[in-house]
Amino acid sequence: MSYKSTYTTLPYPWMSQSRYKKFVGCPYQFKRMEIDGYNPEESKKTMRQGTVLHDYFYMFFDNVDFDYLWDLGTDRDKIRFYFLTVLRGLVPVEKITDQHFIRNFKAFAKFELDHYLNLRHTLIHKIKVRLAWWCPPSRREIFTTNDTHMMCGTVDRILVEGTKRIIMDYKTGTSVPKAVRDEAESADPLIRAKKYTSATISIYTVQATFYAIIDAYIQGFHFAYDSYDKNGDAKWEFYRGDKKLSIGNYYEYIFLWTGFGGSKRPVYFMAYKKVHIKSVRAILNRLPKIRATEDWKRKPNIRRCDWCPIYHIECKDKIQQFKLFNGDVRFELY
Ligand code: SF4
Repeated sequence: MSYKSTYTTLPYPWMSQSRYKKFVGCPYQFKRMEIDGYNPEESKKTMRQGTVLHDYFYMFFDNVDFDYLWDLGTDRDKIRFYFLTVLRGLVPVEKITDQHFIRNFKAFAKFELDHYLNLRHTLIHKIKVRLAWWCPPSRREIFTTNDTHMMCGTVDRILVEGTKRIIMDYKTGTSVPKAVRDEAESADPLIRAKKYTSATISIYTVQATFYAIIDAYIQGFHFAYDSYDKNGDAKWEFYRGDKKLSIGNYYEYIFLWTGFGGSKRPVYFMAYKKVHIKSVRAILNRLPKIRATEDWKRKPNIRRCDWCPIYHIECKDKIQQFKLFNGDVRFELY
């Protein structure tokens, strides 16, 4: 129980994926929170809970006895019970009744079970399975930086499959997006089984691409351009030395949601996708534009921030509405 993850970041103009997304969502929100340092209590609470779960998922691998696991063979029930025992052993007794933790543990154990059995089936040899499944500290909760583009961030986990690196992010605090649920539930089981029973869904592209860019430099790749598109933006390409490569052959990403399904059985959902060079270009071209910004204009967002004193009239979802006596609805204006 010695490991404790902490939220690490570097001050602006270093850019993390969340800062980047905040800017794209609303430059005013970005200015208030990232430059002026305003931090509403609500977001701190959600982050704390997620951080604790991430700690347990991190420690899980240090507490699994792989020789013992291997000797359990392919008995699903025995392996699931073993994983749950490991996870429960990490939690202080008073927490063991916390439903949020328990449901995340159960679904995480199920995911690791499927992942392990899939690797055991395809890789067969014990050493190969151990290397692919067991996640060493160098591939967990890694705070990474990139000096060239001044980017930073923490990757929850990196899976390695041959020459491919899969950026993995645990979603412990948010509910599963409907698009992810729908696609996962309707996916052909044979296709899903190929990739640890996952579904392929195009969401969270920015987050995954951000980490892939940083990790690519650490692994000896780089990005460069020698031409521009019709908008005047640089056409970045992915290189090792002088050799231009396809980034999708080297980087993929997975988002993992853990929790209960409607049946109350533990389920996990995954969004899985290859990293695309167009997403890389969008990020690398926008970073210098963000840093050059001086006009922190408000932008309509899908939800209004409760703390914002001068919200945009179109940040509608959370705008307070007053019903007048004559039945009319009046929106609170700024
Ligand atoms: S309420 Fe709207 S304008 Fe205000 S910070 Fe949030 S997104 Fe921006």
